[in-house]
Amino acid sequence: MGKIIFLLKLVLVLGVIVALSGWLFYDAYKPVPPQPAEQLVVNDITGLNPVTVAYNIKPTTQQQISDAIMATDGPISVGGARYSMGGQIAYPQSLHLDMRDYDEVIALDTENKTITVQSGMTWRQIQEVIDPHDLSIKIMQDFNNFSVGGSLSVNAHGRIMADGPIIKSVRSFKIILADGLLYEASRTQNPALFYGAIGGYGGLGVISEVTLDLVENVPIERSTKAMPFNHYLDYFFDNILHDDSVVLHNAFLYPPSYETLRANNWRETDQALTNTQRLRATDKNNWWKPGLTDLISRFDFLKRIRSNLIDPMVHSEPLVVMRNYETSYDLHEYGFAKPSDSTLAMREYSVPLQNFEVFVLKLRDIFLRNDVDVLNVSIRYTPKDNESLLAWAREDMFSFMVSYRQNKDPESVSRVAAWSNRLNQAAIDSGGNYYMPFQIQDSLDQFYEAYPNAGYFFQAKRWADPGNRFNNLLWLAFYPENQAAKAAWAESQSESKKGDKNQ
Ligand SMILES: Cc1cc2nc3c(=O)[nH]c(=O)nc-3n(C[C@H](O)[C@H](O)[C@H](O)COP(=O)(O)OP(=O)(O)OC[C@H]3O[C@@H](n4cnc5c(N)ncnc54)[C@H](O)[C@@H]3O)c2cc1C
Repeated sequence: MGKIIFLLKLVLVLGVIVALSGWLFYDAYKPVPPQPAEQLVVNDITGLNPVTVAYNIKPTTQQQISDAIMATDGPISVGGARYSMGGQIAYPQSLHLDMRDYDEVIALDTENKTITVQSGMTWRQIQEVIDPHDLSIKIMQDFNNFSVGGSLSVNAHGRIMADGPIIKSVRSFKIILADGLLYEASRTQNPALFYGAIGGYGGLGVISEVTLDLVENVPIERSTKAMPFNHYLDYFFDNILHDDSVVLHNAFLYPPSYETLRANNWRETDQALTNTQRLRATDKNNWWKPGLTDLISRFDFLKRIRSNLIDPMVHSEPLVVMRNYETSYDLHEYGFAKPSDSTLAMREYSVPLQNFEVFVLKLRDIFLRNDVDVLNVSIRYTPKDNESLLAWAREDMFSFMVSYRQNKDPESVSRVAAWSNRLNQAAIDSGGNYYMPFQIQDSLDQFYEAYPNAGYFFQAKRWADPGNRFNNLLWLAFYPENQAAKAAWAESQSESKKGDKNQ
């Protein structure tokens, strides 16, 4: 009798264990439930790149990312703050991981000046956490809306003079690969993942937690100088390059003539602050800015008023602010959020320092011949990046960030592709290259000329992602394994354009 009761108990316990593990297994691997169609269209800030995905989820934990990867076996695309402009965040019928809620601080080490964050955190969110400790982000773009994961994946840079692209401020990160497992990546642990994923546009895996170097938040003072563009190189070498007190620097090359520019320098100082605000406000009512930006981009006489009257007046004001204040510009101040049939868009081209003047002449010629509605050309200095497999600053470079207005109809898109292609080639012929977070209209030849180490990156991708799951429209265009899928996508796009015309 005792034996029977023991056996019954054993069966019961085993039954419970089997049921429990079955439930846990199902929970981890259950298919992602169907979602409403409107959540399945992923687009970027220009509205030019709608892509329909199969599932769209917003993870908040590493486990959720792994579970979603393991619950599906098709393509995976990853989106950060969604400010890239050519479909780099989406792939048709993929599992889309929208990282915007993956935004917690994991650790802040004020003594060693490092922070570890989930990769969906934006610079703004980080600034709010570190500013009270008088710390500042070491390397970032000119605006603070971007996510850490998106910034690492393009290997971003900005006006900050020291060090170069963002890879120089990354200590390590964790990355989840297509097997759903978490890997450490640093210069000493899985270096192929470290050098491949930074600048790798989501092609290897999902960057999860990132440890970044921070620096002190110091007071900085502005000085500015207008000059003919062909005086700039000497000015830069004599006054900026070797002056360690320069924290931020850029130069605006003024349309419509592209003959003069204004250098803007921010040097560390011990002068009293002229503005004591710690970070720029995000809640400003800027309803007028999109309209004004749009008008300036359309009319040459307004561009002349800006360069000859407004900017000299605005820049004559002495300013001393904290570094975090001057690095906390919000994109909405700039005038992007304007849904209409035209959009502001960006391009960036980099050339070695000595080729500055010759590239300005080429850029000017292409803009004038093609009647491009240029709003700004912001020139920044980027020291060499000898680490990332897809490095765009393979030597010390001047980068020309171009903001322009374009219409969204297919003819306008093709016109932009034509001039942009010429500029890509002009940068390549000047020993430089172009930056990839913008509209993807470059040819395969241009891609390999601009990124001669792409073959090493593709080797890393084959190793880290053997099933070619991590994809987006950039890798659809250039990853050799995607040639058949690329042809099918091009056909589906031309069918849908024909459909639009017939309506
Ligand atoms: C107005 C404007 C100004 C800009 N100024 C600058 C500038 O000064 N300097 C500069 O360098 N760039 C600049 N850019 C470009 C910008 O830095 C990039 O587009 C950057 O990627 C934006 O970050 P994001 O979070 O929006 O990335 P997203 O656009 O969301 O993603 C970019 C890429 O990163 C991948 N990705 C995102 N998160 C992850 C993750 N967790 N794991 C793996 N892959 C991921 C995506 O798949 C995609 O391929 C500017 C863009 C705009 C619109």
